[in-house]
Amino acid sequence: MRTGRYAYFRGEFVPVEQAHVPIMTHALNYGTGCFEGIRAHWNEGQQQLYLFRAPEHFDRLAASAHILMMHPPHTTVQMCELTAELLRRNEHVHDTYIRPLMYKSSPIIGVRLHDLDEDFAMFSAPFGAYVEIEGAARIRTSSWRRVEDTATPARAKITGSYVNAALAKTEAMLDGYDEALMLSENGHVAEGSAENLFAVIGGKLVTPAVTDNVLAGITRATLLQLASDVIGIPTVERSIDRTELYIADEVFLCGTGAQVVPVGEIDRRRVGSGGAGEVTSLLMTAYDRVVRGLDERYSHWLWPVFSDDSPAPVARDESEASAAKISL
Ligand code: PMP
Repeated sequence: MRTGRYAYFRGEFVPVEQAHVPIMTHALNYGTGCFEGIRAHWNEGQQQLYLFRAPEHFDRLAASAHILMMHPPHTTVQMCELTAELLRRNEHVHDTYIRPLMYKSSPIIGVRLHDLDEDFAMFSAPFGAYVEIEGAARIRTSSWRRVEDTATPARAKITGSYVNAALAKTEAMLDGYDEALMLSENGHVAEGSAENLFAVIGGKLVTPAVTDNVLAGITRATLLQLASDVIGIPTVERSIDRTELYIADEVFLCGTGAQVVPVGEIDRRRVGSGGAGEVTSLLMTAYDRVVRGLDERYSHWLWPVFSDDSPAPVARDESEASAAKISL
């Protein structure tokens, strides 16, 4: 993956090849960090790059940091301004992914959370599709269970807990599926490896409650609102059984990286039509319009990166925009 030329590291913008951590860094050894994944969407007509719900992402970073006994070095608004500055310096005129990271930086051996130094870093990269699939995803129930709040809280985006996601994703992919369906220990549906899950059941849009070991996704919150405001379908947050998904009319996954991904098959059972259902398709369109600044009702969710004083540069390398089509 090609990153932007600059990263924010130890309080300043530095060339990305200088943003390195020592081998004894606590977070590298013990997974004691937390992070965010934010997207910025390019609008060619407006020559504008829009950060999507950046304050909500930095509020969630602060919540994750609080759980790990860390303290963000800047306010949420300052974090958003820093992010916009990073994107300007990196001259991103294409869809972009931003990764802010807070981590325990002390070079010590000893597992704990207290009495450790901490640091904040951020990089950006051109970013296309996350889950690369044509049509609808085929997913399987993982033999791994989602981390429990009593073990490693799923509501915090903790670097170390992504081993749980990686175990499930690799199992699913090496078995020929696109994504994993993760259940919590009590057998209820939690989420994908890095996406929240929705189902259309009995004319309602249903998603697991935030107390079912899921990350309280920002795309999830966005789609719940768009479902009510734009589509007019009732929404419910409740526990979901695995087999409810087999007989649901529609199922889809969503997240900042994945965006909205229809699910066509679960555990070798076709779901709904096997492709993107009606509600899923409407939400995909509504979401894409909102994030690109084409629906003015939601302009308060967007943070424009460029301004009259610092306009978007002319694209230097068009191939960059599609360079980072990675799959998880
Ligand atoms: N669940 C997990 C485990 C994730 O890693 C992500 C991606 N951040 C999501 C859900 C979706 O969250 P969001 O919509 O805020 O990106």
